[in-house]
Amino acid sequence: MRRPFSRAIFVSLLLAAAANDGAACTNSGSFERWLSEFRSEARSKGISPRALAALDGVTLDQNVINSDRRQSVFSQSFLEFSDRMAAKFRIDNGRARIAKNKAVFDKVEQQFGIPAPVIAAFWALETDFGANNGSLSTLRSLATLAYDCRRPEKFRAELMDALRIVERGDLRPDEMHGPWAGEMGQTQFVPSIYYKYGIDFDGDGRADLIHSVPDVLASSANYLKGLGWRRGEPWLKEVRVPESMDWSQADLSIGHTVGEWARMGVQLANGDHVPEGLQASLLLPMGRNGPAFLAYHNFKVYLEWNQSLVYSTTAAYLATRIAGAPAVFRGRGVVPFGYEQTKELQSLLKAKGYDVGEVDGKLGLATRASIKKVQEKLGLPADAYPSPELIARLRTR
Ligand code: CA
Repeated sequence: MRRPFSRAIFVSLLLAAAANDGAACTNSGSFERWLSEFRSEARSKGISPRALAALDGVTLDQNVINSDRRQSVFSQSFLEFSDRMAAKFRIDNGRARIAKNKAVFDKVEQQFGIPAPVIAAFWALETDFGANNGSLSTLRSLATLAYDCRRPEKFRAELMDALRIVERGDLRPDEMHGPWAGEMGQTQFVPSIYYKYGIDFDGDGRADLIHSVPDVLASSANYLKGLGWRRGEPWLKEVRVPESMDWSQADLSIGHTVGEWARMGVQLANGDHVPEGLQASLLLPMGRNGPAFLAYHNFKVYLEWNQSLVYSTTAAYLATRIAGAPAVFRGRGVVPFGYEQTKELQSLLKAKGYDVGEVDGKLGLATRASIKKVQEKLGLPADAYPSPELIARLRTR
């Protein structure tokens, strides 16, 4: 069965955590007064009365504040997440969309250097190819978040860029709809990204990322290129790892050439070949007993698009699947780490002075870097993935 909307799936996969950082701040002053001050600032920044009219009658949306305060956190493992998000129907749909829009994809790749499966995977994950871009008023959501005390500066700038999008004539205010955090269009750009990277590719004079597939594909490619994508290079390739090696080398901050990896026993799977001299990092999203990939320079671009390691790995993996790679080897019996276990581990690490970012039940880059340090200290295999043994050792120390 087709899933309605990837963000809805995200939310269903997300575990609601207690609001902590946002709950402490309090809003003072009325929204109306705030909006009137914001309009003055926008005017002084050159926004015309015509574009400013987009804010006429905009009211606060308490549901948006509630969504933001809920601070859902993602705690699925790579396999749990990718089983759902890189499911067969998305792979099939991705290939069908590429076939249907082949001329545009070809032109986009020629101009920006981004392969079709890479763009199609983001298109799939973000909105299921435009099937669900979100239905809330973007201007209302952004005005609400810019007024709210939690992250006003960030959203004030986004609201200003949303007005610039109106000013430029890309979208009418009544067309601007999306999820609660103000993203827009079929690949869910926040206004600052939309304004900077959105381009008109169908020749009607506006960058319309809500309705125009050519505009969506070219703008997404333009953004990926802007983030540093290198034409003609791979992004992620599945590998087989030996049962024992120096696991501390599996770290996105450590690079070796493909030839050096081969000498350590790391072999490309599926009969793949890439130039021996290409630099790559060994990515073990679930540790040494789980799936294994070599992540190339272009994988860093994924982490810029979305800093979640699980999202990035899944988006990159889905692109390889759409491009024809077989399903990933599921590993040698890896034990996935749940939300509560991860939170306990983060608390134990934090109490010992390690940086884990927020205690959010999410195995992000900071938490994994700290796990690696502790594993090295305790003489455990330093693959930066937690194990019941690691938790047990930390509890007793
Ligand atoms: Ca256009």
